[in-house]
Amino acid sequence: MSSLIRTRQKVHVPSFSLDFQRRNDTHGSGFGFPCTKEGKLLLNEIKGPGLENLVSCLAVELDALVQTEEGKLLLDELKGLLGPDKFEQCLAEKYDVTLEGIVDYSYDFWEPAQVKCDCGALVDLTDSDYNTCDKCERLYGLYGTPYIPRHLWEEPYDPEDYY
Ligand SMILES: [Zn+2]
Repeated sequence: MSSLIRTRQKVHVPSFSLDFQRRNDTHGSGFGFPCTKEGKLLLNEIKGPGLENLVSCLAVELDALVQTEEGKLLLDELKGLLGPDKFEQCLAEKYDVTLEGIVDYSYDFWEPAQVKCDCGALVDLTDSDYNTCDKCERLYGLYGTPYIPRHLWEEPYDPEDYY
């Protein structure tokens, strides 16, 4: 028997970013770094040259950072991740940016209901009429109601019947 795995549900995705804006840029471009709601940077989510960009951005706030325990810890952590030479080099390459602050990019989306098909596959119920199992082509309604397989909908046309 098929069974409803979950009903349609709203999913909230929290997403915050510590943003820096380029100075003298009318297009509003800049840098954003993933952080918590409270502004704690999520360094493990910053990839590639991101850490180097971060240090070059933070350089504009260096005086403020070194005055707090949290700021000093952050700088130490970045120094450890980049290595002291690279760290100093990035600080020296200070970007021409201003700190925007913590920006909330959180969003919601609707996750479709899902039914477990008789064949074992999971079928997303996104269509208001018919949702087809990718694996066995069984059909389900929006609320997971199974339908008669499509090939059984109509009797095959047989000209012999009309004589
Ligand atoms: Zn199936």
